[in-house]
Amino acid sequence: MREPLLDGHGRAIGDVRVSVTDRCNFRCQYCMPAEGLPWLDRAEVLTFEEIERIVALLATMGVGDVRLTGGEPLVRRDFPRLAAMLAQIDGVEDLSVTTNGFLLERDAAALVAAGVNRFNVSIDSLQRDRFFEMTRRDALPRVLAGLETLAQFPEAHPIKVNAVALRGFTEQEAIPFAEFARQHPYEVRFIEFMPLDADHAWSRDQVLSGEEIRAAIHAVHPLEPEPREPSATARVYRFADGNGRIGFINPVSEPFCGDCNRIRITADGHLRTCLFSHNETDLRGPLRGGASDDELASVIRDAVWRKELKHHVNDPGFIQPTRSMSAIGG
Ligand code: SAM
Ligand code: SF4
Repeated sequence: MREPLLDGHGRAIGDVRVSVTDRCNFRCQYCMPAEGLPWLDRAEVLTFEEIERIVALLATMGVGDVRLTGGEPLVRRDFPRLAAMLAQIDGVEDLSVTTNGFLLERDAAALVAAGVNRFNVSIDSLQRDRFFEMTRRDALPRVLAGLETLAQFPEAHPIKVNAVALRGFTEQEAIPFAEFARQHPYEVRFIEFMPLDADHAWSRDQVLSGEEIRAAIHAVHPLEPEPREPSATARVYRFADGNGRIGFINPVSEPFCGDCNRIRITADGHLRTCLFSHNETDLRGPLRGGASDDELASVIRDAVWRKELKHHVNDPGFIQPTRSMSAIGG
């Protein structure tokens, strides 16, 4: 074991989000343009062995929570094999996947067998035409079938369903999602729209706050707050009659930077210390240049020491980062 990985503000890093590909089979309005993005060349993307080495090194520094994301992680060839490699690393305590669900019918069994113990499935609408409008893919029935396939595995529970909340769209989704959470063993969580869209079309008036959705749901199905876990991104509520839970991730209206314990690795092997960072640190260069574990650890420590205190989305002069959500690994 090595010393814990600390930033310059006294936060211990315990969670890494690894983007395994920048590619995606969806084109969500708030994330990617309709025509897609210029994809990385295959040679630029970290190999499974390179990802394994970084994750194993981070695990020796106390980073035990590993979330695999993208782009769409399930479009990466042989993805369950990567999950199995990472699940076996000493010090990896929690291995999770964030997916749009399109390929879950195919891969749920293999991912659970590989050792993935938590899943987030992104669904923005429970109505087929509105789902199509938001993702530009007519895929709701297939995603729901994938979710049901996953739900058959007790090891995969609790399953989280994430919906990005946009003003003018998500108001109509609040009650149907609340009822979905009450009827199924899924915890639905609304995420405020962040300025990380590739079209750079984000504006503050498009953000539908978690509090507005919570109040609308509470008026129909009363909610009671659950205690907040340290470093948790979501504020979670249970339905007062005991049927299910619902959560709100409010990075814009109620930033939770103070106890952020996360870092990110992009598909091309760059370390990002904040979703909104303007600087990132190349790990692929040293990895491929023959750096030792000690050398790599020291590059990581230096970068993490400079982790941003907070994001500046609410400050005048905020500048959106060049990379968008799918290229960062949300
Ligand atoms: N493709 C997978 C998926 O959609 O779940 C994983 C990658 S996606 C970038 C990760 C999460 O980021 C998804 O839940 C997605 O809805 C969310 N997301 C993407 N763009 C966003 C934005 N501009 N603001 C807030 N959340 C966003
Ligand atoms: Fe793809 Fe996920 Fe971005 Fe939608 S949010 S375009 S599914 S990466």
